[in-house]
Amino acid sequence: PIYLDYAATTPVECEVAKKMMNYLTIDGIFGNAASRSHKFGWQAEEAVDIARNQISELIGADSREIIFTSGATESNNLAIKGIAFFHQKKGKHIITSKTEHKSVLDTCRYLENKGFRLTYLTPKNNGIIDLNDLKKSIKKDTILVSIMHVNNEIGIIQDIDNISKICRDHSIFFHVDATQGVGKIIINLKKLSIDLMSFSAHKVYGPKGIGGLYVRRKPRVRLLPSIHGGGHERGMRSGTLAVHQIVGMGEAFILAKNKIHDDFIHTTKLRNSLWDGIKNIEEVYLNSDLKQGVPHILNVSFNYIEGESLIMALKDLAISSGSACTSASLEPSYVLKALGIKDELAHSSIRFSIGRFTTEEEIKHTVKLVHQAIYKLRNLSPLWEM
Ligand code: PMP
Repeated sequence: PIYLDYAATTPVECEVAKKMMNYLTIDGIFGNAASRSHKFGWQAEEAVDIARNQISELIGADSREIIFTSGATESNNLAIKGIAFFHQKKGKHIITSKTEHKSVLDTCRYLENKGFRLTYLTPKNNGIIDLNDLKKSIKKDTILVSIMHVNNEIGIIQDIDNISKICRDHSIFFHVDATQGVGKIIINLKKLSIDLMSFSAHKVYGPKGIGGLYVRRKPRVRLLPSIHGGGHERGMRSGTLAVHQIVGMGEAFILAKNKIHDDFIHTTKLRNSLWDGIKNIEEVYLNSDLKQGVPHILNVSFNYIEGESLIMALKDLAISSGSACTSASLEPSYVLKALGIKDELAHSSIRFSIGRFTTEEEIKHTVKLVHQAIYKLRNLSPLWEM
């Protein structure tokens, strides 16, 4: 099948995988980066330092502001619980949105059970948070705002610059889940007053199982750690560093930095040909926003067709309805529902996500397959006849 699920995960770039191989075996650098008494440890530590710098360079951070984690799910947990528990004497109110990733929403639900109060903002119809709604929801005891940069289902980009200013003016911590934005659109933390930012390697052509949390140093942001132990990562996340994974993430992020412009042009072109190829199908609805969204995600609904049956009919395409994380359930996407899209249309949604290795030919073939599948399914559908 044609892979069109780059928002779920990306393949590791060959040069990244090759580099990682040098940090595993007896003839490579396999030491523990925390071993301070011999060369094996120093070499591993040096490799980690280089990767930390590469990662920092992509996002405009200081290398001392990066905490390695197992991925963005863990980073989101660490950021939100870490701030909540450390600063709960200051207040117990947290603001987020209804369209966040489950790793944010479920962490927030957990905190509600621990006595925190949550406000879940409803975005506007295009998925963007209304800044006035945000301002109005701020209470005296609000300690944290957590809003994602790019939505994983529809690709909408939030105005994190202005949100960060609102948070700064109210002395509220601001956490950004930037998993889908990092490496795709430019983020410069030097110019934004973001306190914490989550990201993951496997969305940026790096390996799975490694990610990071940016934690601002000036002014210093303090967190309660979730994983206790040897005091690695300045006490914020104990556990022996996965050197090969970290090296892979560093390499992938530097590649992303060098290719960010070309990747953007490439995915924009392909997304446009995909949409141009299918937009004239009857009863097709665009759930993404071509101007205010990232180019690699295109979410559409085909009225009178069940998303799941469409995915089955399109077995030559690797696509998803909504996100991989929730596609196990048959509920319509909570993200689309939060945008006010009615159940039938939310049920008939498909997410195409394209990437560095997608070709023009693949998109042409995709357009053809979609036309065929829709024609076939609608001919079978009693609703369509009426
Ligand atoms: N946040 C967003 C917006 C995501 O798209 C994902 C991945 N589906 C995550 C968090 C979780 O990332 P990870 O797979 O690294 O835990």
